[in-house]
Amino acid sequence: RAKQEGRNQSHFYSDQLHQAVRHRMHLERDLRYALKNNQLKVHYQAKINALDGSLGGMEALLRWHHPQEGILAPGTFLPMAEELGLMFEIDQWVMRTACTQLQQWRSLPHLNVQHLSVAVNVSSIQLQGDNLLTTVDNALAVSGLDPVCLELEITENALIRDPEHVASILLKLAARKLKLSLDDFGTGYSSFSHLKNFPIHIIKIDQSFIAGIGRGASQERLLAAMIAFAKTLELTLVAEGVETAEQARFCTDRGCELLQGFYYSRPLSAEQFEIDFLTGTYRHGAV
Ligand code: C2E
Ligand code: MG
Ligand code: MG
Ligand code: MG
Repeated sequence: RAKQEGRNQSHFYSDQLHQAVRHRMHLERDLRYALKNNQLKVHYQAKINALDGSLGGMEALLRWHHPQEGILAPGTFLPMAEELGLMFEIDQWVMRTACTQLQQWRSLPHLNVQHLSVAVNVSSIQLQGDNLLTTVDNALAVSGLDPVCLELEITENALIRDPEHVASILLKLAARKLKLSLDDFGTGYSSFSHLKNFPIHIIKIDQSFIAGIGRGASQERLLAAMIAFAKTLELTLVAEGVETAEQARFCTDRGCELLQGFYYSRPLSAEQFEIDFLTGTYRHGAV
């Protein structure tokens, strides 16, 4: 009987494995199709000025509107995109879409958007060769967006693979007046020398540190020290993953300039973002 069960068990597992493989093959086929058939969308998440609750910027976040699976977050398909060699194409598309969207908003005089920039996440493949310069120049040319309105979010881990090459690319981008921001700060191979060797203007403190607020003095001290450190270097500070009023207050009191997280808003479609944040003068908490 035990043998029989064992056999059933292994059938069960091989069935599951088979299904997982099939599911993945379908997703791969679907992703190639998605790119060509407008199923990929860019959503926008607000960054809020800590001091007055006004809109301070936005981050472009990729979504896949899959016809059967619903809206998929990038964590579920970007690793696959990378394996399939689709990452560069997707990144180019996101950059162009985000720049074109902001330029379109800027052309509408009734919207409150003139002072804002859009932040786009940069994957490590962009940091090879001249990929990123090509992508950025192409997106700016196609959209007509002023480079001061574009911000790039780069993780620390992406910096360290070929630091000299990456530094030279980032210096060229900084010379074009783009803003460069260090994403997920504190989670990667953090090194203070990054801030000396790369032209970084903004630090985004990773959400894991924000989640530590209210969970013990030592976590709070660590976060307070990170904030103080960034302020000493005169970097702009963004807190990511702000979910509660307490977290917002903690970060504001210690001098974070910008706050981003579900407490203010989830990432929204362009249409919804325009309604919620750009029509009229947005103020968090105002009625
Ligand atoms: P990220 O750049 O650090 O983006 C922040 C992530 O945190 C987003 O997840 C956002 O939806 C989520 N988030 C925002 N506020 C909160 C909050 O209050 N609580 C919690 N728990 N989460 C919050 P998302 O959109 O799933 O993106 C995940 C990662 O995928 C991003 O991390 C970024 O590294 C990458 N990514 C997103 N869009 C793109 C893209 O267009 N290109 C590339 N190369 N990477 C992208
Ligand atoms: Mg980011
Ligand atoms: Mg982040
Ligand atoms: Mg992240």
